[in-house]
Amino acid sequence: MSGWIAVAGLGPGAEALVTPEVTATLAQATDVIGYIPYVARVAPREGLVLHPSDNRVELDRAAHAIALAQAGRRVVIVSSGDPGVFAMASALFEGMEARPDCHDLDIRILPGITAMLAAAARAGAPLGHDFCAINLSDNLKPFSEVERRLRHAARGGFAMAFYNPRSASRPHQFTEVLRILREECERERLITFARAVSTPEERLLTVTLAEALPEMADMRTVVIVGNAATRRVGRWIYTPRSVSA
Ligand code: SAH
Repeated sequence: MSGWIAVAGLGPGAEALVTPEVTATLAQATDVIGYIPYVARVAPREGLVLHPSDNRVELDRAAHAIALAQAGRRVVIVSSGDPGVFAMASALFEGMEARPDCHDLDIRILPGITAMLAAAARAGAPLGHDFCAINLSDNLKPFSEVERRLRHAARGGFAMAFYNPRSASRPHQFTEVLRILREECERERLITFARAVSTPEERLLTVTLAEALPEMADMRTVVIVGNAATRRVGRWIYTPRSVSA
C-alpha cells in the first residue's frame, strides 16, 4: 500500500470541534507526528505509532513524515486549530522545497477550526468585518516587523486577532504591543482575551484598550482587538458589517 501524509487541524480543544474528515483520517493512520500536547489529544490504539516531539522542531517533523510516507506509512501530522494557520502545513512544504524526490507524494491538508474563529464565536461576532491575524511571536520574525504590521493593521481599520501573544520568555513584548495599540487606537477600543477556548479552562474577558493589562494574556490566549465600530450588545461583542465612508 502506498504511503501518504495528511496535515490535520485538531481544532481549539473540544472533541466536538474536530471535523469528521480529520477523525476518519486518523482512523486510517499508522503514524501520528506533532508537538507533545497535540499528539496527546489523539486516542492511542493498536497499530498506531505516536511520535510526540518538542516545540520548534517543525522541519525535523516534516523530514520524519516524508521518510515514513516514502516507506509506505500513512502519516498524520497534527496541529491545533487549523494546520495552515501558524502551524505545520507551511513547515511541511518548506521541508519539501529542497527535496524533489517527495514532490509527488500523496499529501492532503485537512482544515480545522482556528483559535480566532472559535474565540470570536464565543464572544459574538468581533470579526464580522475586515480583519487580520498576526502572530506576535518573534521566533520566526523580528519584533520590528511585528510592530510595523501592527501599526499598518490599526491604521487600515482592521480588527485583529493575535496568536502567541505572550510567553514566559518574552513577557515584555506584549506590554510593548499594548503601548503601540494605545498610540494608534482610541482608549475605548474593545479588546477580548479568550483563553483555552472550548476546553474546561476556557475564560473570556472583554475590556477597553485603556483597561487592558499584559497579564490578561498568556500562550493559551488568542487576543481579539475590534475595529473602531466594534461594540457591545447585551453580553455580546460584535463588529457591524458595514463601514461608512
Ligand atoms: N494552528 C493554531 C495556532 C497555533 S499558534 C490555530 O489555528 O489555532 C498557538 C496559539 O494559538 C496560542 O498561543 C494561542 O494564541 C492560540 N490558541 C490555540 N488554541 C487556543 C484556544 N483553545 N484558545 C485560545 N487560543 C488558542
